[in-house]
Amino acid sequence: MEICQSCGMDISKEEHKGSNADGTLSVDYCAYCYKDGTFANELTLEQYVEMGLEYSPEYQGADTETEKKKIKEQTRAYLSQLKRWQEAAE
Ligand SMILES: [Zn+2]
Repeated sequence: MEICQSCGMDISKEEHKGSNADGTLSVDYCAYCYKDGTFANELTLEQYVEMGLEYSPEYQGADTETEKKKIKEQTRAYLSQLKRWQEAAE
């Protein structure tokens, strides 16, 4: 499966792919994260984690703080292995 290397969203559909500077579709990033060859936002990994959790039914439905913390850590671990955050970490 093709996923955005910034936010982890599925980009197997062309309409979800970002665009390179030359107008071709990006193979790495989605349309929300990447536009005309540059990142469309300056968000940090931590902000992406927060954003992801906001839209996570699993997180929103979690009963305890322990469970929420666990889901948050999983989300952070998932995102931090993506290309954008690997590069940022170097
Ligand atoms: Zn994205």
